[in-house]
Amino acid sequence: MNSFSYIQVSDVESALREAARPGSRFLGAGTNLLDLMKGGVERPAHLVDVTRLPFAEIRELPEGGLRIGAMVSNSAAASHPLVRARYPLLSQALLAGASPQLRNMATVGGNLLQRTRCHYFYDTAFAACNKRKPGSGCAALEGENRIHAILGASESCIAVHPSDMAVALAALDATVRVRGLKGERAIAYADFHRLPGETPQRDTNLAQGELITAVDLPPSAFSKAFYLKVRDRASYAFALVSVAAALELEGDTVRAARIALGGIAHKPWRAERAEELLAGKRLEPHTLRAAAAAAVEGAKPRRDNAFKITLAQRAIVRAVQTAAGMA
Ligand code: SF4
Repeated sequence: MNSFSYIQVSDVESALREAARPGSRFLGAGTNLLDLMKGGVERPAHLVDVTRLPFAEIRELPEGGLRIGAMVSNSAAASHPLVRARYPLLSQALLAGASPQLRNMATVGGNLLQRTRCHYFYDTAFAACNKRKPGSGCAALEGENRIHAILGASESCIAVHPSDMAVALAALDATVRVRGLKGERAIAYADFHRLPGETPQRDTNLAQGELITAVDLPPSAFSKAFYLKVRDRASYAFALVSVAAALELEGDTVRAARIALGGIAHKPWRAERAEELLAGKRLEPHTLRAAAAAAVEGAKPRRDNAFKITLAQRAIVRAVQTAAGMA
């Protein structure tokens, strides 16, 4: 591991000042960053420990939404009564992630910044990885690419985003609140994570030195919800495909639907066309199949992952039916 300096800060101004130093990275629980440092994938020169910043509470917003502080642990967020009652989709997604030990440590802010689980990204013995070393190529294009993207990828990178929580937040239209030296701003969730394009080294649209302070959830009428995670083993595995499905029902008719997919793209993938096809309809099998097909329209499979196209469609049907109480 490279040598680095470390400082623990207790106020935001100090955190932002320290983060302005070249090669700085914020350190939360470190459940991803420290692994990456041990493997030589990340080599920050300066770590700014933000675990003592006052962002560890969950509180109601005046218009009925919820603000979840960036330092709230994944376990605390998942079990909070207001999250469970109003945003069951988020609670389920959080509980589908990692292991209990990791969820007790990992923070909401850190969860948003998890890096891809592409094998070639983690293994520095492979020279070609544009995300790790821009301009070096992509070993996954011609290599083992069973876990990789089928939507939104580029010839520079076909990695997928690993978070479960992020998929639920995409479906719920969350907002990410950040602070930087130039002040505070709110980033709509759809604009927070990036597609790889020609700069896959950038996972998010955060500016250098910007600190996540909270995630805001708008009021939600989507009480019928289900997070389905399909993976190679029953626990402590990343999603091959996941579906966050939430419904607002009027009798047996869908008033509005939200569907986001994980495990298939460089960012949580909102299936807006599928949502439109479900709105105003009863959940008949042909309607569900049409919506599921629309969600994967334009998919471009690689050598090992064409199965994800069928799997994603079946998972969407199953998740929506379960959310509606039909399965
Ligand atoms: Fe690197 Fe992305 Fe290619 Fe994986 S898919 S090797 S992360 S460039």
